[in-house]
Amino acid sequence: MTRDEGSDAGSGPQVREAFSLLNHEIRLEIVLALLEDWQAVYTEPRSYAELMEAVGMRDSGKFNYHLDKLRGVYVWQVEDGYVPTASVTALYRAVLAHQPTAEFEYDQTEIDAACPGCDATLVLEYERGFVSVDCSACDWIGFTYPFPRRGFDGRDADAVARAVTRRARHHVAMAAEGQCPFCAGTTTVDPRVDAVEDDEYWIKIDCDACSYTIGTAPLATVLYDGQVATALEEVGTGREPYDWQLPGATVRVESRDPLELALEIDGDDGTATVVVDDTVTVQSVCVDG
Ligand SMILES: [Zn+2]
Ligand SMILES: [Zn+2]
Repeated sequence: MTRDEGSDAGSGPQVREAFSLLNHEIRLEIVLALLEDWQAVYTEPRSYAELMEAVGMRDSGKFNYHLDKLRGVYVWQVEDGYVPTASVTALYRAVLAHQPTAEFEYDQTEIDAACPGCDATLVLEYERGFVSVDCSACDWIGFTYPFPRRGFDGRDADAVARAVTRRARHHVAMAAEGQCPFCAGTTTVDPRVDAVEDDEYWIKIDCDACSYTIGTAPLATVLYDGQVATALEEVGTGREPYDWQLPGATVRVESRDPLELALEIDGDDGTATVVVDDTVTVQSVCVDG
């Protein structure tokens, strides 16, 4: 058996084992019978007899053999029977979200927003599970972010563009606080202090455990901080629907040791200054104007 050398030590075989456990019709039926109508602790456990009947099996020896393989991994035995584990519920939800086997083609669609560079209409595209918004005329790039296929149900292109933006902002806020929005692992925030002078300065956040990685505008990382939200409102700006509509922040290195960055945001009614530390945690906020 080969191992994915790119992944963390040990995660290759673990990933294989986790998927291969479901690669059997009886085991799959057991898991699906438990997941059907499953609403966490609100759902009554299914008894051994019920579960065997739901799977349509008569041979209890064979049934037991497969149930045993799932026990502790995808199936918990509780006092009154069996319930699905958090891990199999998460796998199930991932399939419902991404619908990997469903056909889905999405034609490039214009959204109700203009390119900040040339004023042409912006277009939304969906490819390989990523939503992108870019200019239809020039090279201006809006954003690219993963978005489950389910998110297109009941939403037009404008609603999708806004939903992706909100989703990304919540993810960024969480990741900047130290928690991966996908796997709950710890994150490493790299303020890229040597790049502060760059025209398009951004902050990098990586999950220490899974493959989640994001580069983001400095203001986006602190947008959900209560003090920052209040300060932005005071200077006459706020959480605009899209990131490119947010006020630009001028970033200054206040101190290198310990690291302090000041983000200066100009609004119509004044200037807000947000000071963050080396993990982009807000240290102070002040409003001038
Ligand atoms: Zn353009
Ligand atoms: Zn992660």
